[in-house]
This record gives sequence, structure tokens and C-alpha cells, in this order.
Amino acid sequence: MNCRIGVISGDGIGPEIVREARKVLDRVAGKFGHSFDYTELLLGGASIDAHGVPLTEETVRQAKACDAVLMGSIGGDAKTSPWYRLEPSKRPEAGLLGIRKALNLFANLRPAYLYRELRGACPLREDISEAGFDLLIMRELTGGLYFGERKTEVIDGVRTAVDTLSYNEHEIRRIAKRAFDIAVKRRKKVCSVDKANVLDSSRLWRKVVEEVAQEYPQVELSHMYVDNCAMQLVMNPAQFDVILTENMFGDILSDEASMVTGSIGMLSSASLNDTKFGLYEPSHGSAPDIAGQDRANPIATILSAAMMLRYTFDLDREADAIEAAVRQVLQEGWRTGDIFSEGCTCVGTVRMGDLIAERI
Ligand code: NAD
Repeated sequence: MNCRIGVISGDGIGPEIVREARKVLDRVAGKFGHSFDYTELLLGGASIDAHGVPLTEETVRQAKACDAVLMGSIGGDAKTSPWYRLEPSKRPEAGLLGIRKALNLFANLRPAYLYRELRGACPLREDISEAGFDLLIMRELTGGLYFGERKTEVIDGVRTAVDTLSYNEHEIRRIAKRAFDIAVKRRKKVCSVDKANVLDSSRLWRKVVEEVAQEYPQVELSHMYVDNCAMQLVMNPAQFDVILTENMFGDILSDEASMVTGSIGMLSSASLNDTKFGLYEPSHGSAPDIAGQDRANPIATILSAAMMLRYTFDLDREADAIEAAVRQVLQEGWRTGDIFSEGCTCVGTVRMGDLIAERI
């Protein structure tokens, strides 16, 4: 297969971790007979340095011409970087919001997987972490409370603020379809999370998700209130496969789910639109405190590349091979500093990339 991949190396540790992900992808290409064509795209601080703005029309145009985009991370140290002396709409993060909007990326995917070898980092009780977990949160990204009308006014001398939570059936249907499509590739379970005992938007959410479920008889659908889900994620995360939820609930639950793994350098993510296109990136930031020191863990980016192969290119065997190589390296006791524990061997970014690539 010939794949056109946009690459945003970004800022801080971004270029280091993306280099390792490309190393692994190139190994996959050689082993499985694919060709990956990379187009370097500028975003965030790197784009400010080159063009004075965090996102250019040219980057959007080039990204649209690719099948998928793989990104490191963008941004710098807010206290010391000159990028943060610019007005907020010109700062690195504005570029990320801009490209998500320009590419209509409405579905955010964040897996939370607990590796047996990294259970020591899991903050949950041992009897819970023993069972392990492998779940994925599908969060709606462009609607709901964060995008509704808002105002603050004084009514009869009292300051009053209003935010609006609105969803229409089209917005719900398209994200629900994405969640079911992904569940088909996994353990075939979707848990839709809402607050249908209180909110009208949640009652519509539930109805539309049930309609979509009719098209996926092989997938088991359940519903859960968001407050219960927050509890279940720490009491029994092993029960979940795909969690489907709206923007604000997903914002909170996805952070909770990733933190129970305890390892920020291991967490991948994807943002998808209604085609096969996706923007794939680690969940962590650009870690300016360790940039350029060969200390960054490249695994979240390498796992993001595996997600790209699975969800944009339907290369499941190749994605499996990357995930298995990561597991093997951990089993053999290799660790970057952020996930290091007694008895393991500490390696840098480049060596970790080599070890994973060699095991493909
Ligand atoms: P961060 O995730 O960059 O770092 C938090 C801590 O985790 C730091 O101590 C860092 O060294 C460590 N860390 C993060 N990733 C690591 C890795 N792969 N290996 C080893 N250690 C790792 O969060 P922050 O410090 O709050 O943000 C730094 C910059 O990143 C800011 O400019 C922020 O806006 C940006 N940011 C970007 C994205 C993105 O590009 N999607 C996401 C979050 C933050």
C-alpha cells in the first residue's frame, strides 16, 4: 500500500519522538512491503519561527492532501518561550485548535491500556490493577457545552453566567458510528455515557446511539450515567471496551482513564473526521524540560503511529506488530527514565526506538 503521511514534528521533544516513530514505520514498510511517503508540515512554535503564525493556509492544504497526519507535540515553556509573549490567538496551541477545526476532526480517541510490566505505576489498588484493562474513550470534540452560546450579564443586580449544551442528531450519529466502527475492530462492546436522567441533550444522545446500534448487531451496547462511569473507571476499569461520550464528559473521563495507567509517556491518541483521515499524536505535551536530551519516551508516538495504521489504513496486522514489539521491549526490561523501575535497564529515546524497530 502507498500511504501519504503528513508529519508534524512540532516543538520541544516533538522532533525526537517523531523520528523514532518514523524509524518504526519505515521498518514496517520494509517488512510488509508498503511505501510511506512523508510530507513535513509546520505547526505551532516551529511555524511561528518560520512564518510568524502557528498555522498557515499552506499547512492546512498540505495536510488535506495527505491520508493521515502523525504529530509529535507543540508548545514551549510558557514562562521562558517568546511564543507566549504573543497574543493568545498567535500562540502555538492556537495552531492545534486551528488545524483540528480546518480538518473537521470531531472524534477524539484515547486508549488507556495497562501493561502488565508497568502495573507498579498504576495508582489503583493491586487487586484492581492485577486484572489489567484495555479501554478506549471516544469523545465528541466539536460540539456540546464548549461550543454552545455563552454569556455573562447582570440581571437585577446579580451577575449571571449561561453556557449552552446543545447537540443535534447528526452530530451524535456521526460520532456514534465512529465508536461502533472501532468497537468492531476490538472486543465489540460500546458503553455510551450520558446524564439522561437530567439532560435533554443526553436523552437525544441515548436515542440516536440506540438507532445507530441497530446497524451493528455484532456490537453489544450498554448505557451508563457519567457519575457512575467516573466511579467505575477506578473500581473496575476492566469492564470497559469502547466508552462513547460527549465533549465535556469525555474531557474529564479521558484524563481520569489515562491517569489510572500512571504512565504519560505511553498514551497515544487520535482525532478523526468522517472520512478515514486522522491526526495521530501522543496525549502528552512537548516536555520542554527534557527536550534535546535523549530522555523522552517515544512509545506514545510509536503507538499513535500504530493507531494510524489500524484506523486510517486498515493495516491491522502491521499495527499488531508494532504493539507486540512495544510489549516485547517492556517484557525484556528496557525502560526510558519516566517508566523506569528497579531491575530494569534505562535507555534513551533513540535506543528505545531502535529496540522497538528491531522487534518488528
Ligand atoms: P507535558 O506533557 O509536556 O509534560 C508534563 C511532564 O511529563 C513533564 O515533566 C515532562 O518532562 C513529562 N513528559 C511528558 N511527555 C514525556 C515523554 N514522552 N517522556 C518522558 N517524560 C515526558 O505537559 P506540560 O509541561 O504541561 O506542557 C508543555 C508544553 O506542551 C506546553 O506548551 C503545552 O501547551 C504543550 N502541550 C501540547 C500538547 C499537544 O501538542 N497536543 C498537549 C499538552 C501540552
